[in-house]
Amino acid sequence: MYKVVKNIKLSKNFSISEFVCKEGKKEVLCDYKLIEKLQKLRDKINKPITINSGYRSKTYNKKVGGSPKSQHLLGKAADIVTKGIDKEKIKEIAIELGFTGIGLYDIFVHLDVRNNPHPRGYSFWDNRTKR
Ligand SMILES: [Zn+2]
Repeated sequence: MYKVVKNIKLSKNFSISEFVCKEGKKEVLCDYKLIEKLQKLRDKINKPITINSGYRSKTYNKKVGGSPKSQHLLGKAADIVTKGIDKEKIKEIAIELGFTGIGLYDIFVHLDVRNNPHPRGYSFWDNRTKR
């Protein structure tokens, strides 16, 4: 667990402050595999990616109703918002890039680099209420 005191650049388009827990203690855990793949995704779609939620502390995760086994607790997940691109397309590219957890929601796409995905190579769920 790290406290962020300085906004360090992690890759061409991502900085550590984007992954800090929203709870305000400036805590972060961040798996480098996640950043590497997000950057590849960013390069491929050539559109800005907004990180809605990166690392979550246990208390913050509870507050937002996250799963007790959420990959956000491990610094292995990000909920991303990208304008002007279909969520199905993001899913397709995410599989190609080797993300191992993909969840579609109305507002964002959850992407993670979990260690034990579904045997097909990635876990997938669709929680959208509207298409
Ligand atoms: Zn998520």
